Amino acid sequence: MDNCLFCKIIKKEIAAEIVLDTQDCLAFKDINPVAPHHYLVIPKTHFASITEIDAKISAALIEAIQELAKNFELKDFRTVLNTGVKAGQTVFHVHAHVIAGRRLEWPPG
Ligand code: AMP
Ligand code: ZN
Repeated sequence: MDNCLFCKIIKKEIAAEIVLDTQDCLAFKDINPVAPHHYLVIPKTHFASITEIDAKISAALIEAIQELAKNFELKDFRTVLNTGVKAGQTVFHVHAHVIAGRRLEWPPG
């Protein structure tokens, strides 16, 4: 997708602090972190939201989250998939937030 911010990160047209690069997914630091650990894990193929991804991409995304958690030795972390404007989605390329390193309230605000 030409006008997609995260596709531009994949194509290296926009810089990001990449922390994981797998065959199907990329993870990088969130530019506006809400916790000491705040990463975004994205599929390398453009899909606007999780309502569009198939089983293969879903599995690759979860596997990338597992690998990221392992690499950073995250034991307690939260994975968030904001889906839709009213749920706070601002970038319409599937991304899982992985957040850790601070107290995580439940239910979230
Ligand atoms: P969401 O609100 O769930 O769509 O999350 C989008 C996230 O992308 C926000 O947490 C932003 O801080 C983050 N973000 C926006 N632009 C960039 C960028 N260039 N590099 C890294 N993260 C970004
Ligand atoms: Zn995209």
